[in-house]
Amino acid sequence: MEAIEIIATIRQFLRTERQFGLQSLPIAPEEMARAMLLAKSKRAVDASGPRAQTVVSAVTRSTPATLGSGPSVPPSGSSASTKQQRLAKLDEQQVRGCTKCALSTTRTQTVFGQGNPDARLVFVGEAPGFEEDKKGLAFVGRAGQLLTDMIKAMGLTREEVFICNVLKCRPPGNRDPLADEIIACSPYLLEQLSVIEPEVIIALGAPASKTLLRTAQSIGRLRGRFHDYWISGAEGVGPRVPLMPTYHPAYLLRNPADKRKTWEDLKMVMQLLGLKIPQR
Ligand code: SF4
Repeated sequence: MEAIEIIATIRQFLRTERQFGLQSLPIAPEEMARAMLLAKSKRAVDASGPRAQTVVSAVTRSTPATLGSGPSVPPSGSSASTKQQRLAKLDEQQVRGCTKCALSTTRTQTVFGQGNPDARLVFVGEAPGFEEDKKGLAFVGRAGQLLTDMIKAMGLTREEVFICNVLKCRPPGNRDPLADEIIACSPYLLEQLSVIEPEVIIALGAPASKTLLRTAQSIGRLRGRFHDYWISGAEGVGPRVPLMPTYHPAYLLRNPADKRKTWEDLKMVMQLLGLKIPQR
């Protein structure tokens, strides 16, 4: 097993443990000192690395960007392909055969999610529906079409972003996810976000927002402003990603009057990413 896989496995294990209530791990003082030293040097590297630069002209990091006379961003092809490999491995080796919850007995197939593994923007929904379960792809039904329209309205394509759900299997009858299903499945989502390391996350609907922000607040109270999502799973540790909760497209199909509020949320994300906001 390569070092990168070992680290990914340990991270996923720790996140799972945290979901089950683990608050701390015993660590020898000298190991703690070593870890803090490592984290400090990593922060210094991160602060001077290409990710610290602002690339606002394109949503994909692999798209050439105009950066004036400053240092050019190194080609991210290798980073994107490494991310692609890590995501594929997670899907093939863990998600597809997963039987961690009862949904494994009713699904047609798992729905890992799809899109650009190096995306600047990730959309997280709730769970696959009827069409998704049949096709093995996230957001392909009517709600998926509305999501496509939302992405287009932002001046983007589905291929430029990454789209996935909290649950990778369809709850029967499209019922709401149960707490134990979210606990069992969310480590996969957290790992996806950890691999992609997007610049912004849009959480679609209450289950995705509450899971990622670990809150019980309603979507109506959460939406309309950015929240902090910590890639490490621990508040204040490692990279922080702004997360915008907004309404789920399926909800918007039933409540079209709230599309306006969602568009306001999307515009805030566009502004953060440096995307052109169309005048309407
Ligand atoms: S919903 Fe998630 S945890 Fe449950 S069986 Fe599917 S992949 Fe596994």
